[in-house]
Amino acid sequence: MRPVKQMTTEVTRGPINLVLLGPPGAGKGTQAVEFAQRHGTPKISTGDILREAVRSETDLGRLAKVTMDAGGLVDDQLMIAIVRERLTRGDVERGFVLDGFPRTVAQAIALDEIMTGQGCLTVVDIAVPDDALVERLARRRVCGQCGNPTSVAAGEARDRCEKCGGELVLRSDDTESTVRERLRVYAEATKPLVDFYSSRPTFRAVDGQQSPAAVGAALAQAVEEMRAARSAGDCGAEGTAG
Ligand code: ADP
Ligand code: ZN
Repeated sequence: MRPVKQMTTEVTRGPINLVLLGPPGAGKGTQAVEFAQRHGTPKISTGDILREAVRSETDLGRLAKVTMDAGGLVDDQLMIAIVRERLTRGDVERGFVLDGFPRTVAQAIALDEIMTGQGCLTVVDIAVPDDALVERLARRRVCGQCGNPTSVAAGEARDRCEKCGGELVLRSDDTESTVRERLRVYAEATKPLVDFYSSRPTFRAVDGQQSPAAVGAALAQAVEEMRAARSAGDCGAEGTAG
């Protein structure tokens, strides 16, 4: 049941170019899918793009796999080129949801530059404390067949995907040592993005320690508030790109 009436309003009020920030395991992927579906916009997940490249064994995939499995970040210039190309496709005209990009200040500066003349960014940080993340990532499984993510409870023996019956596996970068490294890299490289964006009128943080539905509602409300407050043409990005 799609809220058709609401969708029409969205279109007349211009595109929503949503950037989801947040640590690994914050639930960005889940929220990105929901939000993109509701607004009829593409979800652009750099993690998904890289995992797809790994699956299809392209040069990018071979390069990225080593870095991803070690918990590191793929090269800025490479990621920027991928996103720059993706944002030239026609389907982003009605907006987009970016999940997993930017992850460094260099990527954020490049995104501002890419967006010049293309509309404003709306940035929402999904905040979750560190200790909760370690537990969440330990429980995360993905379907080896369709990629559907799910969470298993402690001691739960479920090993089949609810959607397709495929086998649930631990993502190769969700092992304990890699998770610790990813959280360290997040704190060092990605968390500074909260400061980078937080002075903009188009930035909000939402509490990520709630049910996925409650986070989704908080996200939708934050985006609505920002759209209501934003004066036409003012993205609040001035002075940060230079
Ligand atoms: P998470 O579940 O931590 O949010 P993602 O699925 O978004 O992870 O990404 C998985 C891995 O892909 C990251 O740990 C990183 O190695 C790589 N990656 C994804 N997006 C980027 C990016 N924008 N810059 C550099 N590396 C990235
Ligand atoms: Zn499946």
